[in-house]
Amino acid sequence: MIISGKELSTRLKQEMAVEVATFPERFGRVPHLAVILVGEDPASQTYVRNKGLAAEKIGLRSSTIRLAESTTEEELLNLISALNSDESVDGILVQLPVPRHISEQKVLEAIDRAKDVDGFHPLNMADLWRYRKSPVEDKAIQDEIPPFTLPCTPKGVIRMLKAAGVEISGKHAVVLGRSNIVGLPVAKLLLNEDATVTICHSRTRDLASITASADILIAAIGKPRFVTADMVKEGAAVIDVGIDRDPVTGSLCGDVDFENLKDRCSVISPVPGGVGPMTICCLMENTIEAFLRKFSPQL
Ligand code: NAP
Repeated sequence: MIISGKELSTRLKQEMAVEVATFPERFGRVPHLAVILVGEDPASQTYVRNKGLAAEKIGLRSSTIRLAESTTEEELLNLISALNSDESVDGILVQLPVPRHISEQKVLEAIDRAKDVDGFHPLNMADLWRYRKSPVEDKAIQDEIPPFTLPCTPKGVIRMLKAAGVEISGKHAVVLGRSNIVGLPVAKLLLNEDATVTICHSRTRDLASITASADILIAAIGKPRFVTADMVKEGAAVIDVGIDRDPVTGSLCGDVDFENLKDRCSVISPVPGGVGPMTICCLMENTIEAFLRKFSPQL
């Protein structure tokens, strides 16, 4: 089964649009996402544009604030502070990477954790490690909204596994990569789902024998087609987070050798059209959740 993040995210976004359409009557307005882009990086510009388009489709209000590459750290922090105190703004996202003269950590810490829709604020990250529940179900708006924001890509990965009917509990899940934004939080969410989790990285010895024992394999290392068929157990579920370029053709590909793996796996996600669209979808969800938390202070 090829699990299309594109199709799943389309369905979830439709569900969100239906829900958001009820908000003006229930809450007097719709959620508002503010996206800040510093500089002219072409990939960042595309990401920001896609986020704005997705928000619009769902009926959210979105504002994009474009700042010059020469913007100082102080100017950016002042803008974040103003957005933090702006009652009409529910979610704030600073598109990463920021220019080198600006501290990414200071920027992430400056965003009000309640408006941190990326889930990168240290307190949101810390809460993820304390939280034992499994808050990700196969629907757009959860019955029980987690009390803090989950990072978008890891949340999207779990949602894809669930939508594909993959049983996670008791399974051996192997995560390739240990970054703060993907590998580590994915591993923790899998643990919350009662998987037994192994995290691999660039110093892992005998990687292929570990991946070959995985019932669920999440690849997030940024190496084109690194995971080959001989590294994967027959019938495994494989989610490819990588967004890489084929070194020869320059075309977009993932960390997994999709063509040679697809007949071997019970479930596999493609690149493009896999985790990427789910990341944006979960960002929209996080914005709605931040908005709903505001109106339900007990959360
Ligand atoms: P990252 O910060 O560069 O981390 C890469 C991780 O992979 C590191 O933990 C590294 O190990 C590990 N690694 C590198 N080479 C390895 C090897 N040969 N064997 C085992 N592990 C190895 O990257 P990231 O931000 O997590 O992103 C990973 C990939 O996901 C990239 O392709 C990125 O573009 C993609 N991505 C996609 C989305 C999406 O929405 N689809 C979102 C975010 C990222 P060490 O820690 O030992 O260095």
